[in-house]
Parts: sequence; C-alpha cells; structure tokens
Amino acid sequence: MTRAALAVVALLAGMAGAAGAARPVVVIDPGHDLRANLRTEPIGPGSRVRKILDGGGTHGVVSGTTEAELNLAVALRLRPLLERAGLRVVMTRTTTSHVSMGNIARARIANRAHAALFLRIHADGSDDPRAAGTHTLYPARHAGWTDDVYRPSRRAATLVQHALLQALGFPDRGLQERSDFTGFNWSNVPVILVELGFMTNPAEDRALATGTYRQRAAVGLCRGTLAFLGRDPSAC
Ligand SMILES: [Zn+2]
Repeated sequence: MTRAALAVVALLAGMAGAAGAARPVVVIDPGHDLRANLRTEPIGPGSRVRKILDGGGTHGVVSGTTEAELNLAVALRLRPLLERAGLRVVMTRTTTSHVSMGNIARARIANRAHAALFLRIHADGSDDPRAAGTHTLYPARHAGWTDDVYRPSRRAATLVQHALLQALGFPDRGLQERSDFTGFNWSNVPVILVELGFMTNPAEDRALATGTYRQRAAVGLCRGTLAFLGRDPSAC
C-alpha cells in the first residue's frame, strides 16, 4: 500500500471510531429477577440509611406472570427498536434466572456505560384492584447525589410518560419525584423508572400479558427515548 492509501485507511478507521463513539448508549434495566434479594445497601453514596436490594416485585393477578418476566419481555422488544434507530443498548439482565443484583449494581452498569439514559422498566402492584394507570418516576434533587442528573431526568420522564400514554392508553398517573430510590441516588447519568401499568388490575394485567401491548409499551419507550435524545421518534 502506498503512504497515501495508508493515510486514507487510517482516516476511515478514525471516522468509524468517531461514529461509534458518537452513538449514544441507552441502558435498559428490566426490574427484578427470578429471586428477591433481602440483603441491604446504602440508599446513596455515604448514606447510613439502608434498604433491601430487591423485594421481588409484583405479579399478574389474572395472568400469573411475574413482574420480572413482564419487565424483561418489554425490554427485549425495546432493544431492537433502539438499535434500529441508531443507538447502542446495554442490558442489566437478559434472563430471569438469578437472585436480583440490587440497585447499586444496576446503577453502576449505567454509570460505566456513560448512558445517555438509564431506563428502568417496572410494573405496579396494589392491594386495590381498581388502581390503574401508567406513571414515571425520576430522582428528587439531592446535593452530591442527583443534582447533576435532576433536570435531564425530569425532562426524560416527561417525554417518556407522554409517549407511553399515547402507546398504551392507560390512565395517566403522572410523574413522581423520589428521594428514596437507591438506583436513582447512585446514578451519575439521567435516570427514570417507568411503571407501565398495574399487574393487580385485571384489565391492565390481561393487556400487558399480550404481545400487542408489550410491543406498544416498547414502541412508547422507544419514542420517548428518541425524543429525549433529540432524535426523530418516528424511527421507532
Ligand atoms: Zn418493580
């Protein structure tokens, strides 16, 4: 190869590297796992307040599906949508087969990946079978913990909640700030947690057990994420 050809190859390799580096990373965190984890961890860096790693989540009152399975099923539908839209995806888990890793470990995966968004997927449960609807949680502002991610997280929550409502058509339970979520307080990147619907509500559980609604949830999450990243949501 001539020196000029080598220079062209080096230039192209450099461009490919730069394009790779520019591709934003979304860390998808399907909540829970096969087993609860009742060990405790500090709710934020340096905190003396401790919470259990994972109480285990809820389950479908009609379908019998565990929340862990539903969260993962939606995550596995979301991943290819985001990848096709040009984003890089890191998953905190791809099976439901372990003791839950807990929330510091989940946040560390997002931090290490320098995630543009740490997207946590959950579904809700209640003693009241009439409780219904979608809501999205984001970190409350706490100096030293979340002050750097508070604003973008709130913006992401707004956009993703809107897109989820459009996609699922469940009641709007709005947004909620949380100061007590370990996975929020340890996150150094924008972070939200969606509660898709209530698995203790027969109608919402029945819907979320279907491929149709799981796909709708994935499309809603994809559109909200793209809107947050300043990309065209119709790519989903
Ligand atoms: Zn959950």
